[in-house]
Amino acid sequence: MKADLHTHTGFSDGTDTPEELVQHARQAGIEHLALTDHDTVEGIERFLTACDSTPGIKGYAGVELSAEYPEATLHIVGLGIDYRHPELTAALEWTQEGRRIRNDELLARLHHLGLNITREDVQEFAGTDLIGRLHVAQAMVKNGYADSISDAFEQWMRKGRPAYVTRRRLPARESIEIIRKAGGVAVLAHPYQWFKDEDKLSEGIGILVGYGLQAIEAYYTGYFGERLVALLRLADKYGLAVSAGSDYHGAGKPDIRLGELPDNATISVLDLLR
Ligand code: AMP
Ligand code: FE
Ligand code: FE
Ligand code: ZN
Repeated sequence: MKADLHTHTGFSDGTDTPEELVQHARQAGIEHLALTDHDTVEGIERFLTACDSTPGIKGYAGVELSAEYPEATLHIVGLGIDYRHPELTAALEWTQEGRRIRNDELLARLHHLGLNITREDVQEFAGTDLIGRLHVAQAMVKNGYADSISDAFEQWMRKGRPAYVTRRRLPARESIEIIRKAGGVAVLAHPYQWFKDEDKLSEGIGILVGYGLQAIEAYYTGYFGERLVALLRLADKYGLAVSAGSDYHGAGKPDIRLGELPDNATISVLDLLR
């Protein structure tokens, strides 16, 4: 069974429209597809409509929340959410306002650092008014301040670099609670992005389980061999379901392909989504 439960459109920092995403998923033979844009559900209605009119694809409403956690930002994916739930909507509003404040500060910082990057340069890469650092990175490449997207983060925008500006986020516990109140399944996205070895992972996941975490993304772009085995072991240890997502962003991250998973992947989170 082919599934991809972590994808982005131009409503956050991907490049596909919801309709294009569904078309691409159909071409890739995907049967279960979730749209999980960063901190927004604006693309969901169009996404679900497109899935409904595409034979063979079951669509799930999702979101990827950036959540505050001691010493890191976690991404918590919510799958099968009621995307109109008032508490979720309010939380997303608050987060988006924080993003706008951060973007103003980031652009001012770049100016101060002598980089000529205007709001228009950045807007060119954003499909909507949701602007993220990936769009700023694209503008940096275009204007010659970085060789690549990853170079833009490495040189300028990752934590510890001169143009790093934080933004407000809900704590991990609240993020998980809101996803669950909205009827969704709370999944820790790309766990190795936050916790670098199995001991740290086990500790962190244990705490998140205490907050109500239900699944981890064991199948993820670039996770195979030892990493995948360790994540499956941790899912087992904590009684968590296993999710699978590519983190497809379209042309913004051209190396990531939709729905690429090992053939024998068992995606147990689907049982919670029925
Ligand atoms: P923001 O939510 O605006 O702070 O931007 C975060 C997004 O930037 C992530 O979801 C990724 O899409 C992208 N991003 C962050 N760090 C990197 C990196 N080192 N390389 C490529 N993309 C990154
Ligand atoms: Fe992203
Ligand atoms: Fe993420
Ligand atoms: Zn993502």
